[in-house]
Amino acid sequence: MKNQRGKLIIISGPSGVGKSTITRRLVERLKEAYLSVSVTTRPQAPSEQNGREYWFISREQFHQRIEAGALLEYAEVFGNLYGTPRDKTDEALNAGKTVILEIDVQGARQVKALYPQATMIFLLPPSDKTLAERMRRRGREGGAVAARRLSAAGSETAAAWQYYDHMVVNDDLEQALGEVMQIIQEAPRIEAESDTDQNNIGDR
Ligand code: 5GP
Repeated sequence: MKNQRGKLIIISGPSGVGKSTITRRLVERLKEAYLSVSVTTRPQAPSEQNGREYWFISREQFHQRIEAGALLEYAEVFGNLYGTPRDKTDEALNAGKTVILEIDVQGARQVKALYPQATMIFLLPPSDKTLAERMRRRGREGGAVAARRLSAAGSETAAAWQYYDHMVVNDDLEQALGEVMQIIQEAPRIEAESDTDQNNIGDR
């Protein structure tokens, strides 16, 4: 029988669009979901916990992981490195779980090249003004960093229109969540990694 793997869902969007809120709620609502925790060289914010939002590691440790092939994808975003640990993701997919990756556009394209059945969802703010307001309210980053993130949002969104399977506007949280849930329900599963290497080709 064909090995049924889980679904691979990529969620991206500009800083302040509400990615973390949406992914957290998704994991609560979906049965059998796994939210990947990335490794990053970015400094830990006071509100964050090591192992919850991210695993905070040094550049040297990050490069060791790249060399060991331990990352499914990685990218430099706003001057820091971010990457998805491969082992946990594989394990969850093999267990038939819905794996959620909250990663940027560069990383998303790497994952899609590896897994063409991955579903790419990009979250959009209702307007640029709301994005700026949400970032200011969140107050996680200082003025210069916030400005840099805001100006990156435009080019990221332009790239997303080209590469993503779905664009979802996060104006009303419940509505956006409903749309994303619907997309996930209809998303294809990832095909078994090496069907052709196994002796079960005639048994699909
Ligand atoms: P933040 O510093 O705001 O938590 O994240 C900055 C950006 O890095 C966001 O666009 C976020 O989606 C992205 N990001 C977080 N983890 C990963 C990862 O593992 N890989 C990639 N490529 N991007 C990531």
